Formats: sequence, structure tokens, C-alpha cells
Amino acid sequence: MIAPDLKTAHDALQELAAAASVVVPFTGAGISTECGIPDFRSPGGIWTRLKPIPFDEFLARPEMRDESWRRRFAMEAEFANAAPGRGHRALASLYRAGKAPGVITQNIDNLHQLSGIAPEHVVELHGNTTYATCLDCATRYELSWVRARFEAAGGRAPDCPDCGGSIKTATVSFGQAMPEDEMRRAEELTRACDLFMAIGSSLVVWPAAGFPLMARRNGARLVIINREPTDLDDMADLVVRHDIGAVLEPFIAA
Ligand code: NAD
Ligand code: ZN
Repeated sequence: MIAPDLKTAHDALQELAAAASVVVPFTGAGISTECGIPDFRSPGGIWTRLKPIPFDEFLARPEMRDESWRRRFAMEAEFANAAPGRGHRALASLYRAGKAPGVITQNIDNLHQLSGIAPEHVVELHGNTTYATCLDCATRYELSWVRARFEAAGGRAPDCPDCGGSIKTATVSFGQAMPEDEMRRAEELTRACDLFMAIGSSLVVWPAAGFPLMARRNGARLVIINREPTDLDDMADLVVRHDIGAVLEPFIAA
């Protein structure tokens, strides 16, 4: 069913959530647009302006590492100032109520953690952009540390002082392997739920988009919340084409 209006959507969602014993939310960039972080594919999204840097180019070319850090610091105000939105707060309420054991996210903005979901219950399929790691020895570096060296070197990306490896935000780039542990945990959550909610994801990035399919095939109810149609709408029990904040607001508990 495609919810004809917001009121119908609210009622149908409340009913589905009440009937479910385990709800697993799966979120994409759309849940964070109201927090001031643009998504990739909407008009005005990041991709209308910048082509992503694939992992092999990041590794192979120092100027791509410089460019990648230049872009990251250009976005720092958006990431650093963002606070959880209504969608994040609603999902944190479901989590605190014991209804949702965790959240699977494609987002890299750390906002689910900031909304009060324990870090071990946020499965980040594409990593986290609020800190960096050495690709060779895995040492963690804070962005302020990277930025100070980047600026002191006139816009050159620093290498790891311990091992000489490249330092990258702790995110998964195109062409980079998916994190095994997160993939396993996402699968466990997906198989454990009887209600799967895909929220603000264009559902075109694989393998992440495979989780709603997996949930559906496993017998869970599927809800898709996105202001645009997605390729999986046909197999959803409920499709809500409205603003995520407005749709999830009633789930925010005091
Ligand atoms: P996407 O940009 O492909 O899709 C976002 C979707 O959300 C779009 O389909 C859009 O229609 C919808 N949307 C946007 N704002 C909405 C709103 N207020 N209400 C309802 N729907 C809304 O993002 P994606 O599918 O999550 O995948 C792209 C990848 O980009 C992710 O894997 C992630 O790694 C990365 N990314 C992350 C962030 C972030 O962390 N906030 C931001 C941009 C990109
Ligand atoms: Zn190192």
C-alpha cells in the first residue's frame, strides 16, 4: 500500500510497529538531510557537484588523497554542527523502548550514536566520517590532528607517522571492501526482525540494498519511507512518500 496521506501513514505505521516484536530500521542519507547534511542523489545533492573518488585512486594518487581531505574539511561545518533530527530521535525512542535492538545505517555522520543509541547497536555499513584511520596499521586519528598537518603542509594529506600508510576517514569508499563484521551483524539483525523499515535510502547502493530484500524474503513486513519512489516499493507492505521527520515524529517519546 502507498499511504495516500500523512495521517494514514501514521496510523499504518503505529499499527505495524505495535504488531511487531522486533523492528529493525535501516537508514540512508535521507534521514539526515533535515540536519543540514546533503544526500548524494537528490537535486542539489553532493553528486550533482562532485564525482566520488574511488578507493583505488585514493590509494594510487597522492593528489586524490589531498582532494579527498580538501572535500572532507569543506564539509566539516555541516558534519560537526549536525544534531540528530526527528527521524533519529524517533528511532532512538524505539530503541530505548526495547522495540528495536539496533539500527543498520549507510550513513557516516554518527548521528544515530548522538541520538542515544549505543555505538555497539549502530551497524555502520559504510563506516564513519567523524574520525580517520591508517589504512595499513589501523591506528585511529582525530580529524583535528589530520587537519592541522594538512594545513601546515599547504594542503597535502599526511601519512601515518607510525608506519607511513595512507590516512583516510573511517568510511568505505566505492571499490573498497565492505566491513565483514558489520555485514554479518546487519544480516543477523535483518533475520531477527519481523518489521524492517528502510528510511531515506535510494536503495540502489549494493550490497546495502540487499537487506530490505533479505528481510522480505525472510517473512518480515517491509516499510519504505522516502519522498521519492524506489525500485523496491512494489514489494513493500507500506510505502510512505513523505518527509521522514514528519512521518516519524509521532514515535518520539518524551
Ligand atoms: P542517497 O543520497 O542515495 O539517497 C537518499 C534518499 O533519501 C533519496 O532517495 C531521497 O529521495 C531521500 N530523502 C532525502 N531527504 C529526505 C527527506 N527529508 N524525507 C524523505 N526522503 C528523503 O543516499 P543513500 O541511499 O543513503 O546512499 C548513498 C551513500 O552515501 C550512503 O551509503 C552513505 O555512505 C553516503 N552518504 C552519507 C551521508 C550521511 O552520512 N548523512 C550523506 C550523503 C551520503
Ligand atoms: Zn599506520
